[in-house]
Amino acid sequence: MNLSERDRAVNWHPYTQMKTAEPDIPIVRGQGIYLFDETGKRYMDVVSSWWITLHGHANPYIAKRVSEQLYTLEQVIFAGFTHEPAIRLSENLLKLLPKNQEKVFYSDNGSTAVEVALKMCIQFAYNTGKKKTKILAFKNAYHGDTFGAMSVSGRSAWTQPFGEMLFEVVFIDPPTSENLNELKSIIEKHAEELACFIYEPLVQGAAGMLMHRPEDLSELMRFCRQHDILMIQDEVFTGFGRTGKLFAADYLAEQPDIMCFSKGLTGGTMPMGITTASGRIFEAFLSDDRYKTLFHGHSFTANPLACTAALASMELLLKEETVNAVETICEKHHIFSKHLMHHPKVEQVRQTGTILAWEIKNNSHTSYFNEIGKVAYREFLTRGIIMRPLGNVLYLVPPFCITPEELDVVYRNITEVLDELEVRDQ
Ligand SMILES: *Cc1c(COP(=O)(O)O)cnc(C)c1O
Repeated sequence: MNLSERDRAVNWHPYTQMKTAEPDIPIVRGQGIYLFDETGKRYMDVVSSWWITLHGHANPYIAKRVSEQLYTLEQVIFAGFTHEPAIRLSENLLKLLPKNQEKVFYSDNGSTAVEVALKMCIQFAYNTGKKKTKILAFKNAYHGDTFGAMSVSGRSAWTQPFGEMLFEVVFIDPPTSENLNELKSIIEKHAEELACFIYEPLVQGAAGMLMHRPEDLSELMRFCRQHDILMIQDEVFTGFGRTGKLFAADYLAEQPDIMCFSKGLTGGTMPMGITTASGRIFEAFLSDDRYKTLFHGHSFTANPLACTAALASMELLLKEETVNAVETICEKHHIFSKHLMHHPKVEQVRQTGTILAWEIKNNSHTSYFNEIGKVAYREFLTRGIIMRPLGNVLYLVPPFCITPEELDVVYRNITEVLDELEVRDQ
């Protein structure tokens, strides 16, 4: 049996209908923006393997740092004990975040970072003697797949079987300059019961890279602040340079109470989630009453290897070379987006920093199950480019080490595939 066959015999893949799925491609090696399969075929990974590998695959600097740490201290219980990588990482990260963020809570992935944030907000209400249990979120939001994170995500085929068991959420449209008053009146109606507002700032990734303006989000945040609704800014996707600035927070005029990070945090090398909190949140848990403690933790909380990977990745991210590379990607995307906009098979082009997305014209509505995206996906794979679509939305979320020449190769292939793509009327 080859690797694909052995895989099929034992593995159950995420988001995959195993009855109809094509065989998975075994990858044996990664280097920079490239992945290599067992036949030696090379793929450009322009979606950063689910938006995480900021500095490309098998980055030698991160590998070296993690391997040194591996021989020094691989893991230690984080209750009653601490270690320098976690202390340094918290110090370094907090310096880059909005001023009000004061404390760092560690977990393992984006969904758990969100779970922790939700528990902080709901328990904040409990600890301060308020009865607030509803949550405000955007329609089509995506905050992860665990129960709490799923509850505050948009209702879809993904959440359907669990519908009865999800929390009570007030869903609103993302803000535009036109709908702000309408959104405010919905919020006002529920303000008394709302424990928090959770949102993906600027870009709703999994929804199909839907984007809104920082001015409009800032306005909405200001309104929530006035009504004492806590804000959870989920930067799991937007954090660490994705939007062109270090964090989406750098575009916003208001500060959230809590922030969530994962994906790019370790440069895609080790699983890790972080939830940061303002002093006000933290202080509401300080008490002689043990019921006011945050009873949450994970076996791998603040794993020293993951902390070291994050420290190394952040060092690379802050280098002038990387800052310039990010800027180049943003500029080149912008120029290419003008070209895409006029392509007869392209419906809409959206860009925030290094994220470039466009919809393939299709007479049926956008949905995850849309076929046209799959056809394009296969064509790009044949050409050695990994561009997993979201329905009929195609997007580029490249590693920051991609060169201008490599980007041009990708752009050229996109134009060719779009030219050849048969857009069926349905
Ligand atoms: C991916 C994602 C999550 C979930 O992260 P996982 O590590 O996949 O659990 C949460 N929020 C946002 C905005 C994401 O893009």
